[in-house]
Amino acid sequence: MECEICGKPVPEHNPIRAKIEGSVMVVCKECSKLGKIQKAPPKPKFVQQKNKQRKNSSPKRNYSRNDEPSEELIEDFDIKIRRARESRDWSREDLGKKINERVSVITRIETGKMTPDIKLTKKLEKALDIKLLEEINNVDLNQFVNSSSGERTLGNIMKIKRK
Ligand SMILES: [Zn+2]
Repeated sequence: MECEICGKPVPEHNPIRAKIEGSVMVVCKECSKLGKIQKAPPKPKFVQQKNKQRKNSSPKRNYSRNDEPSEELIEDFDIKIRRARESRDWSREDLGKKINERVSVITRIETGKMTPDIKLTKKLEKALDIKLLEEINNVDLNQFVNSSSGERTLGNIMKIKRK
């Protein structure tokens, strides 16, 4: 098999097909640089692994399995709750009354000694009009999808081929 551009021999078992000026040709490594190599990008294997890890990990929270697994309590919930309460000029007693909890519970949450469960978190969100839960999935996936398309992947394939 010969390169359709320069005539150099091309390995039979692993010919390089590149799209050059609109047509696909069998070419040698050198000439493949002139066009785009015709090869599907590799399947994103690690996306699935990531999902698996997500399910098995983060047992820190006490949320039961039925409680929206895509949401997680933000890290600085204690600070956020206290600031929101103070900005309303509420005492811990006031907040406790509004969400039907004892003052000691509010105090423990605000000092980070206690993590509110999902029910209590939602009550706090409502009473203080703040967001305490954040969505934890999809972000990584989207980033991956964007970076796996287009020139970058083609460039990677060329690099691998050249070795
Ligand atoms: Zn060539």
